[in-house]
Amino acid sequence: MNAGDLASWIRQAAERVSADADRLTRLDAAIGDGDHGLNLDRGFRAAVEALPEDVPPGKVLIAAGRAIVSKTGGASGPLYGTALRRAGKAFGDAAEVDAVALGDALRAALEGVQDLGKAVEGDKTMVDALAPAVAAYEAALADGVDLAGCARAAAEAAAKGADATVPMRARKGRASYLGERSEGHMDPGASSTALLLQALADVAGEG
Ligand code: ADP
Ligand code: MG
Repeated sequence: MNAGDLASWIRQAAERVSADADRLTRLDAAIGDGDHGLNLDRGFRAAVEALPEDVPPGKVLIAAGRAIVSKTGGASGPLYGTALRRAGKAFGDAAEVDAVALGDALRAALEGVQDLGKAVEGDKTMVDALAPAVAAYEAALADGVDLAGCARAAAEAAAKGADATVPMRARKGRASYLGERSEGHMDPGASSTALLLQALADVAGEG
């Protein structure tokens, strides 16, 4: 993947977030404050506007992450912004991203989310989609699967991970205030993570 592909990912992510904003907001209304779709829509629109030209892939993600941190309200803005900036930093100045580099960037993104939010798997957060996605990506990579296949494996694992948040009791973020009443609902951030990784798989599959 090159810088143009990464920019395409941010654009596709923005489109999917916008199309799914109401659904994400409904999920957040059930166990949070009902702003997740709105937050991400605003953040990803800003990221699209901030996409720079003629820079390497890493700088594309760093610019998108910075825009998301500054324009997205709620807990998810700093978390997604950090994830993108960490992924961008992992790319360094390379002009091309191969399967290994993308895996390293996804791992760096997960570490960024966990450094900031302190959530572990099972806490009913975006980590429950991102962590299995990174693991699935790395497992596919170890099996010799190409970048597009690894990205697809990650997206599938993220979707499963998001589904698996339904019975969980939230231990981090706003939903944790509900205690056991958070059970029985999908975590909005896990759902949006699955959506972002599906967009990545789509773009990777086109290359
Ligand atoms: P807020 O909760 O501040 O209204 P959003 O609604 O935009 O922010 O995002 C909520 C999502 O953020 C949750 O569904 C969860 O996935 C994620 N989240 C919240 N706190 C954390 C955390 N400490 N670590 C990881 N993800 C978190
Ligand atoms: Mg919210």
